[in-house]
Amino acid sequence: MEDRARSHELTPVLYTGPVMSCIFCKIVAGEIPSKAIYQDDSAYAFADIGPKAPVHVLIVPREHIASLSEAAENHRDLLGHLLWTAKEIAHQQGLTKGYRVVVNSGEDGGQTVDHLHLHLMGGRPMTWPPG
Ligand code: AMP
Ligand code: ZN
Repeated sequence: MEDRARSHELTPVLYTGPVMSCIFCKIVAGEIPSKAIYQDDSAYAFADIGPKAPVHVLIVPREHIASLSEAAENHRDLLGHLLWTAKEIAHQQGLTKGYRVVVNSGEDGGQTVDHLHLHLMGGRPMTWPPG
């Protein structure tokens, strides 16, 4: 092996890209198909594969953040942007009678996919409390 190749092999790689074991990172990267609802530089929204309401959209940051608990101080603007995006999509989807936005965080929160996401659900009356 050439020295250059060998030195490259030994260079530690600082990995700052998507977490490729994460299904939502794969969806953001287009490696798993999804039905796109909205996208911009920092957010992607797509139809939930197991809809719990006539409208059920997931809104995720393009950046991998494992959960709301894992969000850092420098994510404050991004968190606000995700909530704003939920509101805009609700309007775009014609949810004039109302809707629900949910963030499940961690085990007790019922989170099953470890990439922060907002559920936007509407198109039927919701009940309270959730299970
Ligand atoms: P949570 O339980 O809050 O972590 O929500 C995860 C959501 O991701 C569930 O509502 C699933 O139906 C949804 N989901 C899982 N895999 C996919 C997928 N490949 N495409 C779209 N939605 C998905
Ligand atoms: Zn991810």
